[in-house]
Amino acid sequence: MKQRLMFWMVIALAALMLARCHLVIHPLRPADAVIEVKTTGYCMCRKCCSWKFNWLGMPVFASGSRKGRVKIIGQTASGRMARPGTVAVDPKVFPIGTKFYIPGYGWARAEDTGGAINGRHLDLFFWRHQTGSEWGVQYKKVRVWYSRD
Ligand SMILES: [Zn+2]
Repeated sequence: MKQRLMFWMVIALAALMLARCHLVIHPLRPADAVIEVKTTGYCMCRKCCSWKFNWLGMPVFASGSRKGRVKIIGQTASGRMARPGTVAVDPKVFPIGTKFYIPGYGWARAEDTGGAINGRHLDLFFWRHQTGSEWGVQYKKVRVWYSRD
């Protein structure tokens, strides 16, 4: 139990440090498209990101192709750490790096993926699970800047 508490303290500290230097840089060119999408909320918890503690007390993927492998909590598919402004997408529709302006949420960048994220669906990152679930399911007209990398 003590180990787990320590673990969360380290995560919280790392999150605080990262929160400051991870603002989404606003694109200067006009948006490529305005698209109506389904938006939902998620956080880095076990429920939202499908992970669990193994018998050693280490966080591991609970499903998917990396099931059982050690997971860095809060790390997105792009390798960057999740923070407000991180959005999980279907990379076939919105490539990683695509930027969005989402009314009610703000600027965001596609950095994550998820098994349940398909088509015109954006999963928005929130620090707290409660905030994410309060967001619920909302259909929004978002401005889209496709990644040109
Ligand atoms: Zn959650």
